[in-house]
Amino acid sequence: MDINKSIKCTVESCQHHANTADYCSLDCITVGAHESNPKSDKCTDCLSFERR
Ligand code: SF4
Repeated sequence: MDINKSIKCTVESCQHHANTADYCSLDCITVGAHESNPKSDKCTDCLSFERR
């Protein structure tokens, strides 16, 4: 599996996680917010997540 060293990620339950290292394997990802007025990192999400 490819490792994109520009995208660090610790979400091992995602099928795009690089498994052997804490990186994403995608070329790019989409990040969004689940709050209308995000104020901290907890308000944001990786919208490219897909369950393993
Ligand atoms: S798609 Fe998002 S959640 Fe999944 S491995 Fe990549 S950065 Fe992490």
